[in-house]
Amino acid sequence: MSDGTSTTTPQAGKGASGEPQGKMEKIVSLAKRRGLVFQSSEIYGGLSSCWDYGPVGVELKRNVKDAWWREMVWSRGDVLGLDCSILMHPRVWEASGHVAGFSDPLVDCKKCKTRFRADHLGQLSCPEKPDRRPGECGGELTEARQFNLMFKTFMGPVEDAANVVFMRPETAQGMFVNFANVLDTQRRKLPFGIAQTGKSFRNEITPGNFLFRTREFEQMEMEFFVKPGEDERWYEFWKKERYDWYVRLGIKPENLRLREHEKDELAHYARGCADVEYKFPFGWSELEGIANRGDFDLRQHAEWSGKDLSYFDEDSRERYVPYVIEPAAGADRATLAFLVDAYDEDEVEGETRVVLRFHPRLAPVKAAVFPLLRKGGHPEKAQEILAKLRPHFPVQYDQAGSIGRRYRRQDEIGTPFGITVDHQTIEDGTVTLRDRDKTSQERIHESDLVAELLRRVLG
Ligand code: ATP
Repeated sequence: MSDGTSTTTPQAGKGASGEPQGKMEKIVSLAKRRGLVFQSSEIYGGLSSCWDYGPVGVELKRNVKDAWWREMVWSRGDVLGLDCSILMHPRVWEASGHVAGFSDPLVDCKKCKTRFRADHLGQLSCPEKPDRRPGECGGELTEARQFNLMFKTFMGPVEDAANVVFMRPETAQGMFVNFANVLDTQRRKLPFGIAQTGKSFRNEITPGNFLFRTREFEQMEMEFFVKPGEDERWYEFWKKERYDWYVRLGIKPENLRLREHEKDELAHYARGCADVEYKFPFGWSELEGIANRGDFDLRQHAEWSGKDLSYFDEDSRERYVPYVIEPAAGADRATLAFLVDAYDEDEVEGETRVVLRFHPRLAPVKAAVFPLLRKGGHPEKAQEILAKLRPHFPVQYDQAGSIGRRYRRQDEIGTPFGITVDHQTIEDGTVTLRDRDKTSQERIHESDLVAELLRRVLG
């Protein structure tokens, strides 16, 4: 839940961490040029802070979500998936505390009429005088007032108060209200978790920094239900596990940290909370929160719904309301972090090359196939190889320009492997396999390609 505690709420272009200025601008422009991310409704002038993933970006984000699902659900025996509706009964949001308390403090500048998050003034700039903070430009700021971040809409044709529903501001509540359904139908014993990925909506006062803070975004959340008393151990377990997930997928440890919340940052019910933070070009900022939420959520829903959400422990013959450990991540923020961390410029053959050093599992395109020449049977053979690879993962074909240029184009979207068909391929069936990071090449028989690439990609 938004608690106003993120260490930064930066505006695009504000360097706060000593990173070279302009890295974000380079990434935003590369993302557009190479089909990773476009501005929403661009031909109509765009819609503020809304973004569309292009053909390359959609693969990247899918891979991030798949890597999360694989790790959080498939690889464990004790976490089950769920896919809940975005619109939920309005009482859900009263029970959860969102109607009363999901708000941020807002101030207006009386001069330029811009609205700012009052708790982030120290990191924001005046739109008219960008080198000054809001309120330091001669404009007076209003008193702070609370602004609820939930988007409202109406269910059915009548637009009155009785038909108000909310676009969910988090996916978590879907897991809490389905706790008993999952328990009853799946015959689970504690501890076990319920996981979900999906869209959430928050009417953020100051969205910004590309994909970092938007009003429509996707979350990857898991609620892990445990016996009270075992919560501390699981809280420690999930903090480490979630930090390690980013490192395993290639984030440099020096750009990642785990920040434990101070006592005064904690929600009244929280028994502990820590953020995994990434060092973005605009400063250290939250990627994911891991919280020990105690029994707050299940107790609230039991009270508001009148349904029993307790658990009977067959082993100890006790009945209790489970505690919950919640790792709550953002798919778009994680995608942005993987993109920023992968971005690199180096020198190859006397030229500066831009390369996205994605972990092969996250790379949008896994391999590109190039015929060395447009004759000699090279294009036909390359197409044949392409057809063999296609059912397994996204691949591209490119026969335009010098081989160096073709490699560069793939480096820019982070394709880890390049396969070149040359005269020797026609003679002995071997191709060259080029590694994006080492820029080295080896020869491999075409019949070994699928198995070898699957091994290297899924590793
Ligand atoms: P913040 O303090 O940055 O507003 P939060 O603490 O309110 O975030 P949570 O409610 O814990 O965030 O949500 C879990 C995750 O969902 C966040 O760590 C983040 O990755 C993602 N998230 C939350 N709000 C947004 C947003 N407006 N845009 C993109 N991702 C978001």
